Amino acid sequence: MGISIPKLSIPYWKFVLIVITGALIQCAGITNLVMPAKNDANLGAQMDTQIRANPKEYPILNDVGSRQYLQNMVNKILQSPEIKYKGTFPYKVEIIKDDKTINAFCTPGGYIYVYTGLIKMLENDASLAGVIGHEIAHAERRHSAQRMVQAYGAQTVLEIALGQNPNQTVELAANMFTGLALLKNSRGDESEADEYSFKYLQSTSWYPGAISFFFDKVKGQGGNAIEGLLSTHPQPQDRLDAVNKRVKDAKIPPPTESSLSSRTYADFKKRLP
Ligand SMILES: [Zn+2]
Repeated sequence: MGISIPKLSIPYWKFVLIVITGALIQCAGITNLVMPAKNDANLGAQMDTQIRANPKEYPILNDVGSRQYLQNMVNKILQSPEIKYKGTFPYKVEIIKDDKTINAFCTPGGYIYVYTGLIKMLENDASLAGVIGHEIAHAERRHSAQRMVQAYGAQTVLEIALGQNPNQTVELAANMFTGLALLKNSRGDESEADEYSFKYLQSTSWYPGAISFFFDKVKGQGGNAIEGLLSTHPQPQDRLDAVNKRVKDAKIPPPTESSLSSRTYADFKKRLP
């Protein structure tokens, strides 16, 4: 009796997995159908406006040189043939002056924000490029756009994207960034963003496994960093292991000063206000 139950339950769980996977694929498909990717850029622009209107929460660093340093990184990553929405999404980056927050995030449509706390903790260009690549991947894979459509319905999200629903826009921005779990990236999204960041960096001169230095630094700490890099699963150790496996599978040579660019990065950090 006790033995027959697990025997029976295996195909049942496989069945459940297939149903869930099917449902997820369907959701992703529906998002693409009801909301063309170009609307992600409108959605991002609305959220960008909300962020800029709230300098207390998001004090944007007013330093052209530093911003341009990060924008140059973004532009290099966008050269990857894996990028689909380069002409569709604006892909703009800003630095948020907050040394206590080790974080970065990205709206739909590619408005990227990086906190000084994260920049100061990292030690080379390649690691920051790895994190920026991860953020770009969230936009490219339309992770939060899909989550918004699932949570609010396509009609409302379209209205927000087109600026026809200002009240909902404010609520959405608040939900996105005040820790309401609704719009947080899932475990699968995080793994996928890591995977795509690695792919993007393979077409640059940076060591594509350098995000591992970040995971290595934060794996001992508890939960308050990068949208999900720490606060949601998967754990940094799992992600570190996954990066190391990718490096091994792709036969990436060990990093050198030229593929990490730590001296240039140290100079950049010194100039950071
Ligand atoms: Zn993420």
